[in-house]
Amino acid sequence: MNDNSYDAVIIGAGIIGAAIGYELAKKGRSTLNVDMLPAAGYGSTSNSCAIIRLYYSTLDGCAMAYDGYHYWKDWAAYLQAPADEPLAVFHDCGNLIMKTKLNDGLRKQLVHLDALGIDYEHWTNEQIRERYPFYDLSCFAPARTLEDPQFGEPTGGEIDGAILFRKGGYISDPQFATRNIQLAAERVGAQFRFNSKITQIPVSNGKVRGVVLEDGTRINAPVVVNVAGPHSSRINALAGADEDMNITTRALRQEVVHLPAPEGIDYSSFANVTSDSDAAVYTRPETGNNILIGSEDPPCDPHVYVDPDDYDRGFSDQWTLQAQRLGQRFPGIGIPSKPQGCVDLYDVTEDWIPIYDRSCVDGFYLAFGTSGNQFKNAPVAGKAMAELIDYCEAGGDHDKLPLQYQLEYVARKISLGTFSRLREINQDSTFSVLG
Ligand SMILES: Cc1cc2nc3c(=O)[nH]c(=O)nc-3n(C[C@H](O)[C@H](O)[C@H](O)COP(=O)(O)OP(=O)(O)OC[C@H]3O[C@@H](n4cnc5c(N)ncnc54)[C@H](O)[C@@H]3O)c2cc1C
Repeated sequence: MNDNSYDAVIIGAGIIGAAIGYELAKKGRSTLNVDMLPAAGYGSTSNSCAIIRLYYSTLDGCAMAYDGYHYWKDWAAYLQAPADEPLAVFHDCGNLIMKTKLNDGLRKQLVHLDALGIDYEHWTNEQIRERYPFYDLSCFAPARTLEDPQFGEPTGGEIDGAILFRKGGYISDPQFATRNIQLAAERVGAQFRFNSKITQIPVSNGKVRGVVLEDGTRINAPVVVNVAGPHSSRINALAGADEDMNITTRALRQEVVHLPAPEGIDYSSFANVTSDSDAAVYTRPETGNNILIGSEDPPCDPHVYVDPDDYDRGFSDQWTLQAQRLGQRFPGIGIPSKPQGCVDLYDVTEDWIPIYDRSCVDGFYLAFGTSGNQFKNAPVAGKAMAELIDYCEAGGDHDKLPLQYQLEYVARKISLGTFSRLREINQDSTFSVLG
């Protein structure tokens, strides 16, 4: 290897790109993560809500999330971190999922969770009120826009209790967690290069040859991995890898709201991560006694697909809408006139399920389309992609015989075919951020 040749170049140093670099380096490959931003995790990862939950619409999705949970539980072991290294914190506060008409009480997902032996508890509305005495449990669905005169009007009856997963919570903070992986990767020989934009991906005889940076620097590598998040479809086009994609990706704008908890409420001392499809929002405690509010993407809200290099990072009426939607459930919450929170992008596929795959260009691999729901799976995705690369580079035909990946903590194999670029749109999906 000289300075400009590596066994593998990973495009992107977000949480998933960093995790792939780490695993490939552990397997003895010389790796370089290249990112156009100044540090690891500065892209969409930095504004991730970083919620760790176990329920997805597919069995493989649930199994992967359950495996991922264990890495966060023992983050230091995953990183093989020195005892004095500061680490991102996993707030293991559990997830409380409201049972609503919309999610059918998670009936479909619970079948998968039962198959995996994952514990959960059914809560009555009285139990919810004990923990959240300020909640109004009326039904408000279907979700409405602020212009709708019936916004905030109860639509009859109450939600039907909730499901509590004690295993789950959130990471604070996601960018720092990525920095943790970068340091772990560097300890095993991986390299990172920042402030470097990739503008060309040379391919000859159907095989990727490396990458070229904006300043003309060429970096040679027989393996290149596209982990470019909201820029993934652009990077794919540079390599000509977009020709056979059955599933595609687009950058979708998202607003996340931070509201101060009302005086006298120490929110993080008792609150879970919540998901409330009736009010169309999810929440979690946020530092500074704030409540973070994300959207569950109800059909009445337009999907705003954007150019990832040129979009509005300011708050819009969507911010107020999400705040007021929580206000239906939590009538005493004040909504300040100065909005706080963040605006960032999901990299969304048609079925909101990611792509972890090879491509039609030999040596060019795909880990993107994470659809607002793969932060939690980054350590698993890192390992699975490293195995996939080994499998394909050794001549394995992943398109015909998909790699069966043995999870680390869960006694089960998942088919990486579930995440193929060639799959049909998965009709079992929630077609939302819930995956
Ligand atoms: C608002 C929001 C909330 C979310 N909430 C959750 C959640 O609660 N739970 C969960 O599990 N997931 C969540 N997600 C999803 C999760 O954050 C992502 O799946 C994850 O961070 C993706 O990581 P990544 O490494 O693939 O991409 P990114 O972090 O986007 O990294 C891609 C990197 O590629 C670089 N890049 C792009 N093009 C080039 C180029 N030409 N040259 C060089 N570098 C390039 C970018 O600079 C960027 O740093 C959320 C996402 C968002 C935006």
